[in-house]
Amino acid sequence: MARLTDPITALKGIGAAKEKQFAALGVYTVYDLITHFPRAYEDRTRLVTIDRLEVDVPGCFRAMVTSNPRTSHIRQGLDITKVQVSDHTARLNLTFFNQKFRAEQLIYGEEYYFYGAVSGDFIGYNMQNPVFESIDSPPLFTRRILPIYPLTAGLSNAAVTKAVAQAMETAEAVPEVLPLEIRQAYDILSAGRAYFAIHQPQSFEELAQAKKRLIFEEFFIFSAGLSLMRARRAVKTAAPYANTDLQPFYDALPFQLTGAQRRTIDEILGDFRRGVPMNRLVQGDVGSGKTMVAAAAAYCACKNGRQAALMVPTEILAEQHMATLDKLLSPLGLRCGLLTGSMTPAKKRETRAALENGAIDFVIGTHALVSEATKFQNLGLVITDEQHRFGVGQRGALWEKGATPHLLVMSATPIPRTLALILYGDLDVSIIDQLPPGREAVDTFLVGENMRARINAFIRKHVKDGHQCFIVCPAVEESETLSVKSAELWAETLQKTVFPDLRVALLHGQMKSAEKEAVMGAFARGEFDILVATTVIEVGVDVPNATLMIIEDADRFGLSQLHQLRGRVGRGKAKSYCVLFTNSRSAETLLRLKALCKTNDGFQIAQEDLQLRGPGDFFGQRQHGLPVFRVANLDCDLETLKLAQEASARWIESHGGENTPEAAALRQRIGMLFETGNPVLN
Ligand code: ADP
Ligand code: MG
Repeated sequence: MARLTDPITALKGIGAAKEKQFAALGVYTVYDLITHFPRAYEDRTRLVTIDRLEVDVPGCFRAMVTSNPRTSHIRQGLDITKVQVSDHTARLNLTFFNQKFRAEQLIYGEEYYFYGAVSGDFIGYNMQNPVFESIDSPPLFTRRILPIYPLTAGLSNAAVTKAVAQAMETAEAVPEVLPLEIRQAYDILSAGRAYFAIHQPQSFEELAQAKKRLIFEEFFIFSAGLSLMRARRAVKTAAPYANTDLQPFYDALPFQLTGAQRRTIDEILGDFRRGVPMNRLVQGDVGSGKTMVAAAAAYCACKNGRQAALMVPTEILAEQHMATLDKLLSPLGLRCGLLTGSMTPAKKRETRAALENGAIDFVIGTHALVSEATKFQNLGLVITDEQHRFGVGQRGALWEKGATPHLLVMSATPIPRTLALILYGDLDVSIIDQLPPGREAVDTFLVGENMRARINAFIRKHVKDGHQCFIVCPAVEESETLSVKSAELWAETLQKTVFPDLRVALLHGQMKSAEKEAVMGAFARGEFDILVATTVIEVGVDVPNATLMIIEDADRFGLSQLHQLRGRVGRGKAKSYCVLFTNSRSAETLLRLKALCKTNDGFQIAQEDLQLRGPGDFFGQRQHGLPVFRVANLDCDLETLKLAQEASARWIESHGGENTPEAAALRQRIGMLFETGNPVLN
């Protein structure tokens, strides 16, 4: 009998050629074969009599061969083998094309199980190329729920099914990773039964049970891996900060921090004092004031003789943060510096030298910070803003530049908690669930082209009242040039034909950094009334005097992205508005966009987005770090994920250190997950 670790050539009928074909599917060992799961199933369980077969509907029946099979050679490359079969209800002619060998397999007077669909034509009913097996062979292709496997060139479903059937002898030997008490508590099949049933289900109920088990298992292993990583990081040490007095910082602020900001900062200070490297995700809706939380953390690190780095996804944002933070922190004795890709080489060298010799305490920059040329004298705190924009790898690369520095990741995309646990499962989470006082909700309207004139008048009114307006044109991800053109064109059209008397500026991602900075700076100073932009303004940009956000072709954006864009207004004291233009007539799209008009709560919107589009779309191209699950599907198995996470947490807490066979199997499976290069786990 084959063992799980054997190469598949240990199975009968698998030689060098098949071995190669299986290798193309990533199947090398018997274990690989057992975990090569069907992608679909065909119901061949229903047995009927011949007279009950319906035209074009495949069915299973038992019949006797009642004629000698005859093969006729029609022409070069076409042989037809015919045979008649009968049961007590009717007779049926079978036809096989180019399968001469069937004539030897079907013996006059013997009974077989057949599976196929009848077709009707003018000479009567006929069945072409049915599948069959003798009545005393075990059900493999008839009388069962047939698994349909992912295949590769040259490898038929029948070949895989046969190979798997042999490997099934070993299914009982698949190590159980789920302890009995968990299986009982969550009503979960044993590994042996589940692996057996996923390939050879006796019923669809059993199949559902098997799937449930395997999804649960996959999430359980993943969650357990995250817990172990967290535990491992917890044994790393970081000298506790002696000075966590932030009073001078608080005194320097132009406003009182909100309760939620204070709570988050206190959680960070707690981490600093603990002597263990911090791993914290700060989630806060747009405008909740995450920058000040970052500033507080950086202030504290620097006052304890460490350097801090803040990495942001765009140059505009880096420059804007640099301006605000330098103004706030340099009077407190922090030397701040900027590092972005578009700075001149000389400037970059200068900043990097200052980081290396300790002349800069706090650096704010883009991914240029990650570059190999960037070295720190004593990096103690790494902060990434708008974390979802970075790959987990980039986060790690910056982290590598210090000796186990503290890590703070900030995200404005309010990721539903379940997904946050997947993406950031190894992090502690702080949530800033409060906006600074005096913020009013941004009133949001969904309009069509017929409202254009009224909206233009609305823009004019805002400008007349001394406020400013953003107009965002969609960014087409495949073709940045297209979106640039639309923004450019639109800016020109507006300036020439609609608002010749107003000051219209243009901002897009392909402009040189200095240009962008100049435009943004001028807009922030009130030198323009209207800024037509692509989504470069999506993250972080702060212009409190802007009170109107117009979004063109709003249906081209995701809900969370629209919410981010809307967050660019409503940052000052004046009432702000957001107008979503769309030409879409799709009821689904309109429903999606209306969700935005109903609420200003980013978490609720994210949840809605998730439900409407599924996590794949939700993260779109930014889904860095999402693991590749084999059976589990994030689009519909979130509930199971929650259960598995809860189960793994509870079990690790109570039995994690024990040396049971389950614990060993679990460790091994976690190891396998690590080896897949899963970035979340690196
Ligand atoms: P986020 O990054 O979370 O979207 P920001 O940090 O950019 O938000 O803050 C948004 C605006 O709110 C900024 O203009 C900031 O100065 C201001 N702000 C932050 N905290 C407070 C507070 N506690 N009270 C008043 N204004 C605040
Ligand atoms: Mg921000």
